Amino acid sequence: SGSEAASGATAFKVDSPNVRYGADDIESDYLYDTTVVSRDSESGQLKAKPTKVHYQFKTKTNVGRVGLMMVGWGGNNGTTVTASILANRKGISWETRKGTQQPNYFGSLMMASTVKLGVDETLKDVYIPFNQVVPMVHPNDVVIGGWDISGLSIGDAMRRAQVLPVDLQRQVYDELHQLKPLPSVYYPDFIAANQGERADNTLSGTKQEQLDQLRKDIREFKQSNQLDRVIVMWTANTERYADLLAGINDTADNLLQAIAQGHAEIAPSTLFAAASILEGAPFINGSPQNTLVPGIIDLAERERSFVGGDDFKSGQTKIKSVLAEFLVNAGIKPLAITSYNHLGNNDGRNLSAPAQFRSKEISKSSVVDDMVSANHLLYEKGEHPDHTIVIKYVPSVGDSKRALDEYVSEIFMGGLNTISIYNTCEDSLLASPLIIDLFMMTELMTRVSYRVNSDSQDEWQPFHSVLSILSYMLKAPVVPPNTPIVNAQAKQRMAMENIMRAFVGLPPNNEMLLEHKAF
Ligand code: NAD
Repeated sequence: SGSEAASGATAFKVDSPNVRYGADDIESDYLYDTTVVSRDSESGQLKAKPTKVHYQFKTKTNVGRVGLMMVGWGGNNGTTVTASILANRKGISWETRKGTQQPNYFGSLMMASTVKLGVDETLKDVYIPFNQVVPMVHPNDVVIGGWDISGLSIGDAMRRAQVLPVDLQRQVYDELHQLKPLPSVYYPDFIAANQGERADNTLSGTKQEQLDQLRKDIREFKQSNQLDRVIVMWTANTERYADLLAGINDTADNLLQAIAQGHAEIAPSTLFAAASILEGAPFINGSPQNTLVPGIIDLAERERSFVGGDDFKSGQTKIKSVLAEFLVNAGIKPLAITSYNHLGNNDGRNLSAPAQFRSKEISKSSVVDDMVSANHLLYEKGEHPDHTIVIKYVPSVGDSKRALDEYVSEIFMGGLNTISIYNTCEDSLLASPLIIDLFMMTELMTRVSYRVNSDSQDEWQPFHSVLSILSYMLKAPVVPPNTPIVNAQAKQRMAMENIMRAFVGLPPNNEMLLEHKAF
């Protein structure tokens, strides 16, 4: 099965003159088909012109040793990811009321879903694990580390989280107890006041000294574990939004200067992003706040380092990005989407403060925008369904988050349809596989380069610093300046699948199935 393959394994070889397998990389020649639309100025008629762009892709096949440093390592997500990877790596099973449970990577797009490779000679579909389209890192091989403002060992933090079954916790505790998070940056103003009592593992000094320390932490983690690459992921508490200020966080130079001067609007998460970029380590923001301020994007572009974000798309929003896409594409008009959540974990506790709730509200709100604006038959320009989001902290439900959603839509001849959804799940069991997918996909993008119209001897380029290809896993995808944001889940998956196919010179999957229709 896919989860048993080692890092870098692929399930097939492409047989094509446009694909070259070298000692260290795979190169593909690829014709990208698009349709360019223009409007005739006199008649006003649309003109659609099929267009081909010649790309070349080069994918390094040697994955090497890769590390993942999580900010907020001692939280529910951080400890669940760490314990679950350990269980998978060692094949640790545990007893439940229903019998013995084996570890797995369910919920991970890369580890537990398949893509259609093609059809065989009997015209049957052939599927392969998603992570075997191109060589990818295997999560079992990742070296994990990170920071937390709470100094508990990862073993004790896993117990505090109350997520994983006790019989599994018992078996991984000793090893996880050896792991201690590095001291982190704590500015009480950015997260809820109720987090103060956890903060016993913090860095002192100026912002500049803290930046330098984070950079040193990344370097030392890389060296001491002999890693080829480190990826940094923010899975710490949701911060309030930082004010966007001219001269402070608007450009790379201003941002670095503001850090040097200890400016109050530089958030801890932004300091981590800056440290990662300066160390050439991709940085992914799994929380909703605006960590990736314009100065950070500018810095990432300048250093040709990768950033991605914002906010893991785990439960309610994921369903929303499926259901709203379905409704609008079916010609049904959502009028109101009303969402209530309650949860009782530390994330919920932090989100009970207004400024942190506001960050979450913003990131959950924009999720249907692209679907609505794609259908001018249902929605007039500027028209939008009502969209309301409520989050309440209910300690007794713990990590078992409840999401209640009501979709009211206008159907045929003015009729109304109401869909009501009640979604219950361990929040951290939804987020952890996303962390794994973000890590795997980001790692891949560090090994891929491209050039366009490559008859010229252009230099190979890395992809744009802002990794919009990660959108599937993120609630409020950050994309390169002046490019479209895609929230629709099916489109996001299609983009990932077909871009990965392009890396090995395979055409996009289109489900036309002409071989079964045209005899
Ligand atoms: P958590 O509260 O259990 O863990 C967060 C950890 O971050 C805590 O251990 C805390 O001590 C630590 N922390 C806070 N500020 C820090 C700092 N400046 N540096 C280092 N560590 C710091 O929360 P969680 O359930 O693990 O969620 C983590 C984040 O992921 C939250 O922001 C949450 O909104 C986001 N998120 C979670 C989900 C999900 O389904 N679980 C989905 C989307 C987003």
